[in-house]
Amino acid sequence: MNPVEIIVKKRNGQKLSEDEIKFFINGFLEGKIPDYQMSAFLMAVYFNGMNSEETVALTRIMLYSGEVLDLSHLEGLKVDKHSTGGVGDKTSLVIAPIAAAAGVKVPMISGRGLGHTGGTLDKLEAIPGFRTDLSKDYFIKIVDKVGACLIGQTKEIAPADKKIYALRDVTGTVESIPLICASIMSKKLAEGINGLVLDVKTGNGAFMKTLSDSENLAINLKNISESFGVKTIAYITDMNQPLGNYVGNWLEVYESVKILKNEVHNELTELCHLLAGTMIYLGGKSKDVEEGIKISKDLISNGKAYKKFLEIVENQSGDISFIENLEKYPEPKYRIEVKSNRSGFISKIDSFAIGMLGIELGAGRMKYTDVIDPKAGFVFFKKVGDELKQGDLIAEIHTDKDNSDYFITKFLKSIEISDSKPEQLPLVYKTI
Ligand code: URA
Repeated sequence: MNPVEIIVKKRNGQKLSEDEIKFFINGFLEGKIPDYQMSAFLMAVYFNGMNSEETVALTRIMLYSGEVLDLSHLEGLKVDKHSTGGVGDKTSLVIAPIAAAAGVKVPMISGRGLGHTGGTLDKLEAIPGFRTDLSKDYFIKIVDKVGACLIGQTKEIAPADKKIYALRDVTGTVESIPLICASIMSKKLAEGINGLVLDVKTGNGAFMKTLSDSENLAINLKNISESFGVKTIAYITDMNQPLGNYVGNWLEVYESVKILKNEVHNELTELCHLLAGTMIYLGGKSKDVEEGIKISKDLISNGKAYKKFLEIVENQSGDISFIENLEKYPEPKYRIEVKSNRSGFISKIDSFAIGMLGIELGAGRMKYTDVIDPKAGFVFFKKVGDELKQGDLIAEIHTDKDNSDYFITKFLKSIEISDSKPEQLPLVYKTI
């Protein structure tokens, strides 16, 4: 087969056979197909899509590019959660320890930043020493011993996604239902899980901006997951503003720890309880999601989830002194205050623009060789619906880069202020 013919076929909107997809993916993995041809292929899929047969074939090929774990020897049900990606979306850091503290086994394979969104691995690696590149055997050992382990795709597990994901991040080829489905499901199905919670984001900071596109993505993900025998519950949740008040790798660890220590109660906390409660239910530790949510809240208030987080960090070589004393973390060179230039109410935050500005601050990658600055990001003091007086502090920008006028101007362009209070955004739009 000739890779160019396959690219041209997809470019012209034709359906690809399983053999053609396999030839392309495996060729890329073996280094026979270079990045530039894979980039062209991804862009052709981005524009022309794939039907459900092609999407399932792509998922299967990416899944079996590596090993599928068999965790049946570990006691109890294994459950994971995956988000389709957003800005400030740090729920994994909170809910993995909650679910593990409830007795559910959580073998979590996550990703790095993708497009304008942050990634769980980059966030965890903001903790000095934290390792996400563990071997399969060590991963299984920690899942068994601690209850949760969070790693990235490896040479052994979902290697095709590892390579393709990094390329999609920097080639504008993320927002594609078949590519997202294959990427997510090739990781999740490799984990050997019994249950999966999907947090499908919708809105200006999500890959799917409309409710109908998000619903379509959720249905596709759930269908693939269940066709492999994994019990799945999907929520469509809001991403029309950053989730929580902190955006950026270390800043998101900081906010997650505050939630785990029962010191923050915002919409992020509420979403964490819903997702963790659902994991607890799918893990057979509650009779329904409501009871799971109650267990989740108890595990925060009695300190067990926080303790479990410390255990996870320690077992993945992270330095827990930075968690126990959050103020020990190095400071950014600049903390730039962004103040409101008028009075009114925040009516919109363009989370996509915030995510892209975050990359310019150093929180994400423009090329895949870029090194992330874990300190870079934003602290929001006002969110959608909040009232402001002229001169009030909206946010603080954290960066080592000396370009404050430019950053402030760009930040303010992403915020809309109106005279009247906007309607409150729902947190959860739908359960599928
Ligand atoms: N998360 C993933 O793992 N892959 C995607 O493509 C999008 C979100």
